[in-house]
Amino acid sequence: MPANLLNLREYEITRLDENDHDYHVWAEVKQPPTACLYCRSDNLVGFGRREQLIKDLPMHGKRVGLYVNARRMQCRTCDRTFTELLPAVDEKRAMTTRLLAWIGKASVSRTFASIAEEIGIAEGTVRSIFRSYVSELERTIRFETPKWMGIDEIHLIRPRCVISNIRNNTIVNLLPNRDKKTVTAYLSCLDGRQDVQYVAMDMWTPYRDAVRTVMPQARIIIDKFHVVRMANDAIERVRKALRSDLTVSQRRGLMHDRFLLLKRQRDLDERERLLLDGWVKNYPLLGVAYRLKEAFYGCYDAKSAPEAEHVFSRWLDSVPAALREPFGDLIRAYSNWNAYILNYFEHPVTNAYTESLNNLIRVMNRLGRGYSFEALRAKILFTEGMHKHTNSRPKFARIREAPRERTLDLMIYEKALPFHRPKEPQPIRVGTPKNYGVDISTLIAKLEAGDL
Ligand SMILES: [Zn+2]
Repeated sequence: MPANLLNLREYEITRLDENDHDYHVWAEVKQPPTACLYCRSDNLVGFGRREQLIKDLPMHGKRVGLYVNARRMQCRTCDRTFTELLPAVDEKRAMTTRLLAWIGKASVSRTFASIAEEIGIAEGTVRSIFRSYVSELERTIRFETPKWMGIDEIHLIRPRCVISNIRNNTIVNLLPNRDKKTVTAYLSCLDGRQDVQYVAMDMWTPYRDAVRTVMPQARIIIDKFHVVRMANDAIERVRKALRSDLTVSQRRGLMHDRFLLLKRQRDLDERERLLLDGWVKNYPLLGVAYRLKEAFYGCYDAKSAPEAEHVFSRWLDSVPAALREPFGDLIRAYSNWNAYILNYFEHPVTNAYTESLNNLIRVMNRLGRGYSFEALRAKILFTEGMHKHTNSRPKFARIREAPRERTLDLMIYEKALPFHRPKEPQPIRVGTPKNYGVDISTLIAKLEAGDL
């Protein structure tokens, strides 16, 4: 018999069958039970056998089913009967513990259906293993609570809330919803929430309310990016409103050239400048809107919050009545959020963070389709090799001492104390390594390579 075929030391293999798809392996536990499951008595007698089908890791591309001929025992002390416990087996799921571990890992990177097919189990079983695997990861992998936190929106099937670490460019969590209840519940359970200093967010009232409730000490900052893009939206509105006055070919031309309107003036080349001038001459309101957009971006050149407040209010006064409507969202956003918008000038959010988050949003649709949110979330948060750690071991320390000469004294000393070793420089303990979460650039690279 191929005794070691399965590498399950506690079992003896008694028979093996195979066909094109499967291995069928009959096995028995080598050691009979020595104590009663209920009263620990060793006064046991055999009470027949019961076959249990246990799934194991696929082998040579074939599914593996293990028919364990398990002993039934009767206890002479308490009179009860029981089936022996199967070593290395998760009896609830009728599979080996190594298969269980393998499915857990695989379920983060593959579809449940493909795993179920490979092992020969139900998809629901894979899903349930995935859930317990993820909650185990959730319990054991702790990301550092960011002192500078980002709360933004990301589209995963529908809009979700993404929590990030601005200074380390990492993602620390994804929440299924963006409502106040979800965000408040998440923040309330966060270790070290009282140490969060800044929270950068987009202009979404539930985020603001949640942060003010749970972390009143944190300063809320609206990132420049979220504000200036509203000026671009306004220009788009002006352009679209013009369309009804245009011929089909003009409309097509303006559609074609719309990127000029969104571009910063300083970034236009000679040809683009001429094109833009043409549109502006024919449609003066478009020109006014363009200058307003540019002026709004210009407000962000302010060097301090008071200066910014001044330039913003001058800008607001300069919006002509004819453009109040297309710029309405921006004007309202400024009046509702100005304290937080102005905080940006005291504590600017790094461009690196904003850029990487935007890049991430751009490539997010490359995530596998057909996955649930919780599967996508687990892929993002728990795929191996994506976490940003502090050094998990100290830096290599060069030894600068000259090799010690073994004097007679030292040799006598070593003999007397057999466990004595000459003192070596001790590595400096850095404490438990910190895990800052999922590195956004690594995540983007994986998404672009189609590795998730
Ligand atoms: Zn007993």
